[in-house]
Amino acid sequence: MVAPAARKSRQARVVWGDRVVTVGGDAPVRIQSMTNTDTVDVIETAIQVKELAQAGSEMVRITVNTPEAAAAVPYVREQLDRMGENVPLVGDFHYNGHRLLTEFPDCAKALSKYRINPGNVGKGDKKDKQFGQMIEAAMQYDKAVRIGVNWGSLDQELLAELMDENNRRAVPWDGRQVMYEALITSAISSAQRAEEMGLNGDQIILSCKVSGVQDLVAVYRGLSARCDYALHLGLTEAGMGTKGTVASAAALSILLQDGIGDTIRVSLTPQPGEARTQEVVVASEILQAMGMRSFVPSVTACPGCGRTTSTTFQELARDIDQHLRSQMPVWRVKYPGVEKMKVAVMGCIVNGPGESKHADIGISLPGNGESPAAPVFIDGEKAMTLRGDRIAQEFHDIVQAYVER
Ligand code: SF4
Repeated sequence: MVAPAARKSRQARVVWGDRVVTVGGDAPVRIQSMTNTDTVDVIETAIQVKELAQAGSEMVRITVNTPEAAAAVPYVREQLDRMGENVPLVGDFHYNGHRLLTEFPDCAKALSKYRINPGNVGKGDKKDKQFGQMIEAAMQYDKAVRIGVNWGSLDQELLAELMDENNRRAVPWDGRQVMYEALITSAISSAQRAEEMGLNGDQIILSCKVSGVQDLVAVYRGLSARCDYALHLGLTEAGMGTKGTVASAAALSILLQDGIGDTIRVSLTPQPGEARTQEVVVASEILQAMGMRSFVPSVTACPGCGRTTSTTFQELARDIDQHLRSQMPVWRVKYPGVEKMKVAVMGCIVNGPGESKHADIGISLPGNGESPAAPVFIDGEKAMTLRGDRIAQEFHDIVQAYVER
């Protein structure tokens, strides 16, 4: 699979100890996520950060909204370090970030990146000063920043200015275009201000988040054409379940295919009982489906139809998929490259052998009216035919042996 050519962006470095996560430039598109714990609860927060990191999140954002949360951040970091988890932490600041970063230097040091929302760093005369205090902290402690604009908290003074300007146009833009312009202008002008203050522009990542797919595509196409900062992509509120997953996949895929986006987050609203890590799984699946990164071996399975005699092939596909995923933490280290492996589990011989030849290992279970035999292909060649009641177990063993070989 040929991955799309990326837009040339600057490269930021998000660092904790020996762990350096590069964002932009020639780095792969990074996955990030955010906790939903109260940061004051150090243990709960550290546990969730670790879960997200183990699921594949390469940076994890935590809320820093009060003095108590800022005071807790170094302890969250310490707890993670004790657990042997060095994923960089990103602090999410709104309204009082300037005070928290100034008054809690240990918090400022323990974080690896600061998320700054220019829409709520302060109003009027205070805006520049408070934004400046956050940038000062980033320079003092050598941290990356994400200037993250969000249409739910857009800089109202800037929006009013742009609306006035629009009213003076011979042919005024429609309201949406003014909104897009406000988002883009807020992000880029804030980044330029930060650079004027002395922050290295390479360490700036921009985002302009909205919650509609077409709006996101329009805003990021405009934003990417007007700057070379690394860009963080994501719908601000993708929604729940299938809707959130599909909306995120649609929006991110269009932009990633255009080569736009250096880091992504899938902001799913977890269903009751659903793991927070689901958003990381969806983000990984998007990048893997796009051919941009590989995280786990892929299992191709046909949908089944009237030719399938039972649900055996679906169960086998599910079991193989779960087995491969569960082994990855060990296999990734033991068998480098295993994440690129492709397995096909098909319901009959109509498409089974053809699909199996395109995979590293493929099996076609016997379909309705076919002889009770399951041909297995390895590296494009027919290797054997399985028969009897133990087809699933034998195929499992063949996959295991292939990985070990
Ligand atoms: Fe149906 Fe066979 Fe195609 Fe699967 S491979 S969908 S069982 S025809």
